[in-house]
Amino acid sequence: MMDLRELYQEVILDHSREPRNFGAPEHANRAAKGDNPLCGDRVSVHLLMEDGKVAEVGFEGRGCAISMASASLMTEAVKGKTEAEARALFARFRAMVMSDGEGEEGDFDDLDKLNVLAGVRDFPVRVKCATLPWHTMSAAMDKSADDVSTE
Ligand code: ZN
Repeated sequence: MMDLRELYQEVILDHSREPRNFGAPEHANRAAKGDNPLCGDRVSVHLLMEDGKVAEVGFEGRGCAISMASASLMTEAVKGKTEAEARALFARFRAMVMSDGEGEEGDFDDLDKLNVLAGVRDFPVRVKCATLPWHTMSAAMDKSADDVSTE
């Protein structure tokens, strides 16, 4: 039987090889670019916000498996959510990858599939890869014209 860690690895590889929601939705009305110079990850996130909700979301870019898988998983997680829900999810995700994995804050069952990225907390350099797409989505929601850098 596959252990949990292997299963997580499978999901990450699957999403990095075949990213979901890759490309810009045709009618996207918000976008931002992000860049993680430490690893060379670049991602742009495109959103179609309608009635305060993420009606469509897509991303483009290239980078390591963690950044691509995180972007892919993020698009699945935020689609259909309100702006507030998507931002709250980002806060939870960031708490997860930055937690020490112990105690109450170590319990992130509510994040469902995003839990596959919890392991990056053991690799501080990888935390930036995992959070880059989320920072970029948040910047797109802010309608910020500025590019995002994790530096
Ligand atoms: Zn990376």
